[in-house]
Amino acid sequence: MMGFASSTHPTSFNFFRGDDWMQEPCRSCDEKEKDKGGCRCQAYLLADDMYATDPVCSKSPNHHVIEEAIASARNSALTENEKPLIFRNSKNSRLLS
Ligand code: SF4
Repeated sequence: MMGFASSTHPTSFNFFRGDDWMQEPCRSCDEKEKDKGGCRCQAYLLADDMYATDPVCSKSPNHHVIEEAIASARNSALTENEKPLIFRNSKNSRLLS
């Protein structure tokens, strides 16, 4: 039986190593060794381009997608069945259980 790794293209897991695949602004960015250009899945989902700078990055030409989503979320009221998102921390996690 073939495992996942052996059943996929052998270079798939190495495709985004290094920075040869990067576009600007990532290619010349001082941060590229830290974040590797951001998330490839997020770039594909939000910019429809797996090589694009992660739109979450403020330097991304697609960053407006994130800003628009944040503005939309801030401007929309919760419906009767929705609850506000509460980020868990050590103190409030005890209250939620
Ligand atoms: S995602 Fe943003 S911070 Fe990271 S390397 Fe690319 S341009 Fe630089």
